[in-house]
Amino acid sequence: MRAGPLPAGSPAELAALVADGLAGTNGRSALARLTELLAYGAADPADPACAAHLHCPPLAVAAAADLAVSALNPSQDSWDQAPAATALETALLAELAALVGYDPARAAGVLTSGGTESNLMGLMLARDQKLDGIVELDGIPAGADPRIIASEAAHFSVQRAAALLGLGERAVVAVPVDRQLRMEPDALERTLAETSWAGATSVAIVATAGTTDTGSIDPLHIAADLAARYGAWLHVDAAYGGGALLSDRLAPLLDGIARADSVSLDWHKLGWQPAAAGVFLVRRAETYVSLARRAEYLNPVDDERAGYPSLLGLSLRTTRRADAFKLAVTLRTLGRDGLGRLVDACHDLAHAAADAVRAEPLLELHGEPVLTTVVFRYRPQEAADEAAIDELNGQLRRLLLRTGRAVVGRTELPGEGPGRVRLKLTLLNPHTTTGEVGALLREVVRAGRKVAGERAG
Ligand SMILES: *Cc1c(COP(=O)(O)O)cnc(C)c1O
Repeated sequence: MRAGPLPAGSPAELAALVADGLAGTNGRSALARLTELLAYGAADPADPACAAHLHCPPLAVAAAADLAVSALNPSQDSWDQAPAATALETALLAELAALVGYDPARAAGVLTSGGTESNLMGLMLARDQKLDGIVELDGIPAGADPRIIASEAAHFSVQRAAALLGLGERAVVAVPVDRQLRMEPDALERTLAETSWAGATSVAIVATAGTTDTGSIDPLHIAADLAARYGAWLHVDAAYGGGALLSDRLAPLLDGIARADSVSLDWHKLGWQPAAAGVFLVRRAETYVSLARRAEYLNPVDDERAGYPSLLGLSLRTTRRADAFKLAVTLRTLGRDGLGRLVDACHDLAHAAADAVRAEPLLELHGEPVLTTVVFRYRPQEAADEAAIDELNGQLRRLLLRTGRAVVGRTELPGEGPGRVRLKLTLLNPHTTTGEVGALLREVVRAGRKVAGERAG
């Protein structure tokens, strides 16, 4: 029995349980016994107290569709390994292109492992389009001084992508953000101008539509105007906020996304798909050129001329499972409206949680929720310096983990010095009630009191 979304105990205790399970299991009972172990030791994203990450409870219909994919095992790297799945992925991507506001006849895309891979792809195409010719084939031109402009709150995968693409992490210039972690438009303009004066090339602007912590959406139209003015590629990382496109209420927040050259979407976040269900889209299919490859055993020219399509040149991967299938099934089952209602329910829940935080004197709200996250911290009544409050919040979160009673997020606001540690609820379970969120916050307060009492005593 568990007291909440996690097994109680320390990581070492759990690792010992897993080692015992592996050592003591063989033969036909392995599936049942190890599944039991996996379930016992899983973080249950459907538990109302499991609210740390963009880690959603998957829809049953999507999980069932994914199981069918596992059993049938189509692979998207050639038509003869996935005839229907190839056609289905192409059709689904056209629907998603329309959802973003792209012209589906001109757009292209692919299913990815998630925002990390999609961001890498967007920045790779940006590099190849913006630095003379196709860098993929020839290497980065001598003398090029490329920059990627992203906000301080952009996802860390942007730096990783810059490193992998041979531009170096230092090519990423961080634009300051406001209190809600939204990119400052004036600072973006200044950064682009300074990059240009310094003789460097602004290869890409990365605008985040839904920062991981606060869900804030960078000014997309301004980013698009500035990208056009400075000849930069615009990549919109909507790994989290893309789900807002499903909701009539929230979709206007993403106005301008259709002007992006490329977009990352993640349906294993605000889309209730089992991982992985990432999507990468480009507005103009021809910008995909640098990924095209010919492998005689996968996409020979004569097959292609005879009408056998190939998705090989759309992905960084070769063998690739049919992740589009579960999403196509989900969209047919619930419709955009049905999914939009789930998004709205989580958005309502975030506002209810913010109200509950405001009503609790021992909690301090960081700002109004934008999508479905709430950022706050425990603030003890007794005077404490900022470093001590940081430490206390980290400790109370670990206490909740150790007892297995709750999984709340812990993050830090951008900047320097103490006082930046915050707790976070990422609310992705549309069935969670306001009462359950209130109970979770009381659990946080109880843990805070306990830790504060131990520190004093
Ligand atoms: C989650 C997230 C990513 C990374 O996506 P993965 O699917 O985990 O690879 C990128 N950007 C943002 C804004 C995210 O929230």
